[in-house]
Amino acid sequence: MPKNRALIIGAGIAGISAAYYLNKAGFEVTVIDKESGRNNCSYGNAGMIVPSHIIPLASPGMISKGLRWMLNAESPFYIRPRMNLDLIYWAWKFRKSSTEKHVRESGPVLRDLLLKSRELLIEIEENENLEFQFKKNGLFMFCNTQKGLDTEAETAYKAQDLGVPAKVLTPAEVKNKEPGFDFRITGAVYYPLDAHLHPGSLMNGLKKLLNSRGVSFIYDTKISRFESDSTKITTATSSDGLTWKADYFIICGGAWSAELAKTSGLKIPLQAGKGYSITLNEPSLIPENCGIFAEAKVTMTPMDHALRFGGTMEIVGTDRRINTKKLTGLKKSVCNYLPQINMADLETETIWVGLRPCSPDGMPYVGAAMKFNNLFVSTGHAMMGMSLAPASGLIISEMISNGRSDLYHQKIDPNRYN
Ligand SMILES: Cc1cc2nc3c(=O)[nH]c(=O)nc-3n(C[C@H](O)[C@H](O)[C@H](O)COP(=O)(O)OP(=O)(O)OC[C@H]3O[C@@H](n4cnc5c(N)ncnc54)[C@H](O)[C@@H]3O)c2cc1C
Repeated sequence: MPKNRALIIGAGIAGISAAYYLNKAGFEVTVIDKESGRNNCSYGNAGMIVPSHIIPLASPGMISKGLRWMLNAESPFYIRPRMNLDLIYWAWKFRKSSTEKHVRESGPVLRDLLLKSRELLIEIEENENLEFQFKKNGLFMFCNTQKGLDTEAETAYKAQDLGVPAKVLTPAEVKNKEPGFDFRITGAVYYPLDAHLHPGSLMNGLKKLLNSRGVSFIYDTKISRFESDSTKITTATSSDGLTWKADYFIICGGAWSAELAKTSGLKIPLQAGKGYSITLNEPSLIPENCGIFAEAKVTMTPMDHALRFGGTMEIVGTDRRINTKKLTGLKKSVCNYLPQINMADLETETIWVGLRPCSPDGMPYVGAAMKFNNLFVSTGHAMMGMSLAPASGLIISEMISNGRSDLYHQKIDPNRYN
């Protein structure tokens, strides 16, 4: 019997994870990407796997904090004000979602997806014998003000209530765990279940594995629209007029997903959240654990022979140009929390740019599109794509194979704005 064919649009971590589980379930899988498949958000990111992140981006206080940050050119956040209806709708929905109720309801859903993804990554590492520098030794939320530490401690108690272990540490306790480092901090919260990995190694390892198992990859081909009959999508058409038929179509186009989904009548509001990373090769000291400089929203991830810092969230469309003021702000934050590093250390290194696919309620879009019975979506993972996409990929594969997935929840329903 011929295998069912699945066409995945987007070769980022969301697409590759869906491809992995669909291939395992016996589908004939093709992954198409409009670029090289390596120029996406899933390569140069901070690689942190964060069961600690049980609070969605849309939460009380975020808007006032965002407005304050808008006044400072070097702050970690910026929205380019413009008369764009998609942006206005997104901002309105973000505001509506920033409630205690939404945070309360989303926490357990994020926890389950994040813990499941961590478990799936461990399975992939062990069963597929892939090496992607996966270190399961926790994460620090470093705070350099008492107010910041109080806020992080409050989040830690919420995490504990949801069964995610967390511990508030003094600077001396941090020093015990990272003896070579003199962080300029008032304290930290330690999340032992968090982890970090090398995102590029994970992506390349999975692609090589999928290639060897017969998954086809087509690059430099943009899918620009779908053809359909009354119940299902029949064909995906590229911008140069090539067509693909399949039994199932899965949109995993990251920050560009909304544009493609719209051609099938599905509304998934998304804004690209631009961020940067700076990787220091062969620094004199590399910490054991990853961490986040909490007030500055800057990440620090040790990698083999390298140390990566990441941050900023600029809502400026899909423009990948580097904003030098934001980059300077990021570098200054690193030096503030970690005086052993100075601005000159950060000047010479390569800068990476990524566009996070951000939904207005901070929850991903994962599942079946209601309008057609063979169209699926896995996107909108925002700042947690590496941490969530494995579970999302499994959900897609289970929904297509069995019509349902125990991991699915209506909070991630891709039809929720239709
Ligand atoms: C600075 C920074 C640090 C981060 N750190 C972390 C972290 O520590 N932990 C974590 O969990 N997450 C992190 N993230 C978030 C994470 O990187 C993203 O959530 C994730 O990579 C998104 O994956 P994706 O597959 O949805 O999108 P992408 O990786 O962007 O892939 C989407 C792909 O779809 C293709 N595509 C789009 N439209 C079409 C089309 N019409 N036809 C064909 N192809 C198309 C694109 O070319 C692209 O290759 C970070 C992000 C940034 C920017």
